[in-house]
Amino acid sequence: MSDGAVVASASVQKDEFNPFKAMARRFDGAANHLELDPGIREVLRTPDRELTVAIPVLMDDGSLSVFRGYRVQHNFLRGPCKGGIRFAPDVHLDEVRALAAWMTWKCSIVGIPFGGAKGGVVCDPRKLSLGELERITRRYTASIMDILGPDRDVPAPDVNTNEQTMAWIMDTYSMHVRRTATAVVTGKPLILGGSKGRLEATGRGVMISTREALKTMGLRPEETRVVVQGSGNVGGVGAELLHREGYKVLSISDMYGTVYNDKGLDVPAVMAWLREQKRLDGFSEAEHLPNSEQLTLECDVLVPAATENQITSKNVDTIRARLIVEGANGPTTAAADEKLEERGVVVVPDILANAGGVTVSYFEWVQDRMGYFWTEDIVNARLEQTMVNSFNEVHTTAKQNNVSLRKAAYILALDRVATVYRLRGIFA
Ligand code: NAD
Repeated sequence: MSDGAVVASASVQKDEFNPFKAMARRFDGAANHLELDPGIREVLRTPDRELTVAIPVLMDDGSLSVFRGYRVQHNFLRGPCKGGIRFAPDVHLDEVRALAAWMTWKCSIVGIPFGGAKGGVVCDPRKLSLGELERITRRYTASIMDILGPDRDVPAPDVNTNEQTMAWIMDTYSMHVRRTATAVVTGKPLILGGSKGRLEATGRGVMISTREALKTMGLRPEETRVVVQGSGNVGGVGAELLHREGYKVLSISDMYGTVYNDKGLDVPAVMAWLREQKRLDGFSEAEHLPNSEQLTLECDVLVPAATENQITSKNVDTIRARLIVEGANGPTTAAADEKLEERGVVVVPDILANAGGVTVSYFEWVQDRMGYFWTEDIVNARLEQTMVNSFNEVHTTAKQNNVSLRKAAYILALDRVATVYRLRGIFA
């Protein structure tokens, strides 16, 4: 290979793993299908606002460290921006941009009145004390204060952030505006205006999407073997609910390892172990595999629910599932997607499959603004209705246009946001 060819191939590979480019490739496919006006296409593709902040924090040892934080608001044509905040050592701006855009499309698909945003702080929470995490969270919140608010931008938890993080954000914002503003974040503790059912909502949505997709493929729960990558808020809850519905969950993983039983795992026992021990690798009632082997296990359904770029051009040919339900955001690269489509593997895309979380976040925001709280049964019934309707709309669009579920989801999402843009007109 010539030097030029080596550079070109390295850059194609880099592009494959760049989440914003992955989002843009799917966006362009749907925009072409819709024959979207080039100007509107440019508006919808470009993030509206990007804020990068420096976060100086006094560490426990008395030193001062400066962390970097981002908040990207992709689009607020349909309502206030909505999207999680992740804390991770490798968070970067293109990742946050992609995640923000995915939130725009996700909210549009499930028909909730929000635009999309995402935030990130470059830090390694495993190396920080609770006090340091609290100071990072509060200073980050103060630095992005100007663009936050119940009518502007409403964060939520994502990777390595949780109810406690949301409580700190809510308190910091409230102290600045001199009133308790519960609706500024979702995913809060119940006692602070959180919603029943929020913690399980994304996993529940994944279970519902899996069930609806399998119905269209004629598979019954008891004959369906499922592999779940990740055992956090999405994968862990998803696996528990799938097990409860009668699916055979063969394997679950975390960042330290994979557990496997070809007859089906005792999922409640795995999750009880995990809650106690915080990692899967010592669990004795199953076989252990290296993580690299999990995605290639023989199964009917694969649920990648850990992180992005897991199914790529490098391993796609070894995937043996018939259905992939994307619990995580961006787990399949665009290059891998094309191969899966060629092989007839059905993919329920992230912007549909994991939209249960933002749907119940919307319910939480509504309840906070009403000051009146729903029972868990009401929350779950409304989530069920939203997920089933959204799945059916995407499925029908796919059939009508003879395209994949992913392309159909983007077509529906873009069309709705573009329609809103045309109706609102161009502000000048
Ligand atoms: P989490 O931090 O609760 O859990 C992540 C899990 O993935 C952990 O079990 C971790 O050990 C595991 N993991 C990480 N790397 C792994 C690897 N290489 N192999 C196997 N396991 C690995 O995070 P979460 O909230 O469950 O989010 C997971 C994904 O779902 C992310 O992409 C997130 O953006 C997306 N998502 C989350 C929500 C939500 O409500 N939490 C909503 C929509 C989408």
